[in-house]
Amino acid sequence: MPFADLDKWIHDYPLLDPVMKLKPVTWINPYRKKMEEITSLPVNRQDMQDAEELWKRFAPYLAKAFPELRSTHGVIESPLKAIPELQKLLNANTEEPIEGSLYLKCDNELPVAGSIKARGGIFEVLHYAEQLALESGLLSENDNYEILAGDKFKEFFHQYSIGVGSTGNLGLSIGIISAKLGFKVSVYMSADARQWKKNLLRSRGARVLEYSGDFGEAITEGRQKTIADPKGYFVDDENSKFLFLGYSVAAMRLKKQLDEQKVLVDDDHPLFVYSPCGVGGSPGGVAFGLRQVFGDNAHCFFVEPTHSPCVLIGLVTGKMEKVSVHDFGIDNRTEADGLAVGRPSAFATAISKLLISGIYTIEDNELFRLLYMLGKTEHIFIEPSATAGLAGPQRIASTDYIQNNDIDPSHITHIAWATGGVFVPKEEMNSFYQKGKFLYQKGVSMVG
Ligand SMILES: *Cc1c(COP(=O)(O)O)cnc(C)c1O
Repeated sequence: MPFADLDKWIHDYPLLDPVMKLKPVTWINPYRKKMEEITSLPVNRQDMQDAEELWKRFAPYLAKAFPELRSTHGVIESPLKAIPELQKLLNANTEEPIEGSLYLKCDNELPVAGSIKARGGIFEVLHYAEQLALESGLLSENDNYEILAGDKFKEFFHQYSIGVGSTGNLGLSIGIISAKLGFKVSVYMSADARQWKKNLLRSRGARVLEYSGDFGEAITEGRQKTIADPKGYFVDDENSKFLFLGYSVAAMRLKKQLDEQKVLVDDDHPLFVYSPCGVGGSPGGVAFGLRQVFGDNAHCFFVEPTHSPCVLIGLVTGKMEKVSVHDFGIDNRTEADGLAVGRPSAFATAISKLLISGIYTIEDNELFRLLYMLGKTEHIFIEPSATAGLAGPQRIASTDYIQNNDIDPSHITHIAWATGGVFVPKEEMNSFYQKGKFLYQKGVSMVG
């Protein structure tokens, strides 16, 4: 590989030194632009609104196909909850108390797929299914999409195959919705993906193929095998506009929830959002949406494991998806499902470069400690990766970001985006919790 001279890289980008030593770092993005300075992006506000319209067309189908969506009439959404008890506990343990108020966006509760992938993954498959059905003449946009649940459409979709490479949660979302519509669906997974996820997928009718080598190989294989079929469609996590747009709709929904809870966002009351980051698609789509909806008053931060800081390295070096964490001697090993990603999304990262405020990295032990603290104080149980955003308020407060942006810290609304958890089996969640409790009581230092 062409990056043998790591000393030169560290010389040019000194932050790489602690990053390569796996130390937690906080990076403020010097490329963030004001909305008025951004002239063109590959997606725009209209695309996001069109995505919301597609969700609305499919709502009658979703309500019919998934009993768990009847009560919401086919809308897949999660609550926004204040978490003052956790805030108190976090504040009790530090000299840097969180000012403003702390909320959790509970995508850990998202129905159908059990993680934030319910937004992007399901959207991409619905978009593809609609396109096929409209082109065939079997469906028109004015139909009630409930008819898609009928045998005629299942047989029609069964001619087509969908493939995806996934360490877990993306596979769940693509597998579950594709199989339900009638597609032949194959999920290419690394062998170390959690067994319960493989079992769940198989029980829903998806084919699960396991790869023992590097996860990159699973993706390459999956892509080749899928597109070898003339009626095959590959969901490309490393380069997908549709995943991105599916995620972006969350921002419009969040605006409504903030209004309902009378939380003001304006020039004097900024919104700080902290999102766990894998390839950067879900946090990127959400950040894109938030900047469209709240403009410069939305301050979006990504969080990556210290062992998988691929978006951070891509942005800091400017090499984006051309580099992987392995090129820098980093092993990409973390217990945070969904975040063990070595190379960022090309599509999402180019956009995030202009929109986000920064990135911090976090150790696995801290994820478990936060998992325990949230469970103990708020009785909310989320998967380890989903806790990463909870460290955000204190991390950012320890930089000069708030001061430099002339922000009154007591006016900030902090939202940690909880990205998954509801499908995690009880025994597994309990072992995460016990591990977090042990680490918490051992008093492993709070900030990195
Ligand atoms: C996928 C995932 C993420 C990150 O999303 P990316 O699009 O890969 O950045 C975060 N948390 C969980 C639980 C996930 O499954």
